[in-house]
Amino acid sequence: MADIDERALDDVVTFTSDLIRIDTTNRGGGDCQERPAAEYAAGQLAGAGLEPILLERSKGRTNVVARIEGTDPSADALLVHGHLDVVPAQADEWSVHPFSGEIRDGVVWGRGAVDMKNMDAMILAVVRAWARLGVRPRRDLVIAFTADEEASAEDGSGFLADQHAGLFEGCTEGISESGAFTFHDGGGREIYPIAAGERGTGWLKLTARGRAGHGSKVNHENAVTRLAAAITRIGEHEWPLRLTPTVRASLTELAALYGIDADLDDVDGLLTKLGPAGKLVEPTVRNSANPTMLDAGYKVNVIPGEAVAYVDGRYLPGGEDEFRITLDRLTGPDVDWEFHHREVALQAPVDSLTYAQMRSAVEEFAPEGHVVPYCMSGGTDAKQFSRLGITGYGFAPLKLPEGFDYQALFHGVDERVPVEALHFGVHVLDRFLRNA
Ligand SMILES: [Zn+2]
Repeated sequence: MADIDERALDDVVTFTSDLIRIDTTNRGGGDCQERPAAEYAAGQLAGAGLEPILLERSKGRTNVVARIEGTDPSADALLVHGHLDVVPAQADEWSVHPFSGEIRDGVVWGRGAVDMKNMDAMILAVVRAWARLGVRPRRDLVIAFTADEEASAEDGSGFLADQHAGLFEGCTEGISESGAFTFHDGGGREIYPIAAGERGTGWLKLTARGRAGHGSKVNHENAVTRLAAAITRIGEHEWPLRLTPTVRASLTELAALYGIDADLDDVDGLLTKLGPAGKLVEPTVRNSANPTMLDAGYKVNVIPGEAVAYVDGRYLPGGEDEFRITLDRLTGPDVDWEFHHREVALQAPVDSLTYAQMRSAVEEFAPEGHVVPYCMSGGTDAKQFSRLGITGYGFAPLKLPEGFDYQALFHGVDERVPVEALHFGVHVLDRFLRNA
């Protein structure tokens, strides 16, 4: 079949730049308008002969879904999704305007350049190329561009999964952001981590109750003291090591890459020996809970009857029960806790055919690279789509030169992506998607 053409390589740059220029800042609380970006994406899909559907739960919070029919009707469908919203950017901190989409010295600048208008553009460029070249993938592909990923997903993937499950019929697996980018280890090795799992989110609200009263009196039921004690226990807690299948594979493969003994009985030691590459794994070998907000009292000589704190908790796939039990113990009898916001953890197999195909697509275009699986410390829209039985992988291929720290550019100042990185992404995505 015809290879991807030059036009697709030009398109991906244009589409990335165009999408960046459409300001889809998501400030949370419903303050975002994805509609113009959704219309842009739908226009490109229609230009490829597809029939995109625009879907909104709230006005202007637009999602786009289209299906490409595969050549093998017996094959399971594959979901390919990208979000259209971006996090805010403070223009005066940037070297170029964050919504200029400027292309300077072979680099596309702007908010969303890596998270994730680049991937949205890659998907569109591949689909347009296929229409020109007469390529049809083996599996049905469901293409989804979502709203609201950077906040609650209630207007985006959550809404699609709850209200429009029929559009995703037959989908068993999905790919989206945060995987297959170049991780430079500082010693000349290039690692391409493919995400096969996500930690779950447990944002907690803690409420301590006590006896209100005068600040000068004896009070052994002080809500502030109780809250502070609980918060200290949580913040200082050493969560035990727990290796999920993905993290185990990650450590084993990295150890092999560096010629180190994969001693899983001393994971902390192993992480140290792995050096910078250990950072890919470090946040996902245990649950975590970080106190982040405190709220109590209204006058210095009044003991309040209640004190409140918030904690950013994250748990591993399979780690939620332990997380809950540990929080019960750490908060103690005088402090209640509840989930302020909760999202599931995900685990995807690394011995699947799909994983092998993603891996070989990267290896074909980056033969010097080393593909390893990893678990994301945070979360994506894949959490919502998992409710439809869809196994999610992080696969948004980008070949980045040294000095481009992908993780730092994510939500960072001067977010940008080299044109070459986008070209690599189109090649790899095309190769993977047409054969998957
Ligand atoms: Zn993202």
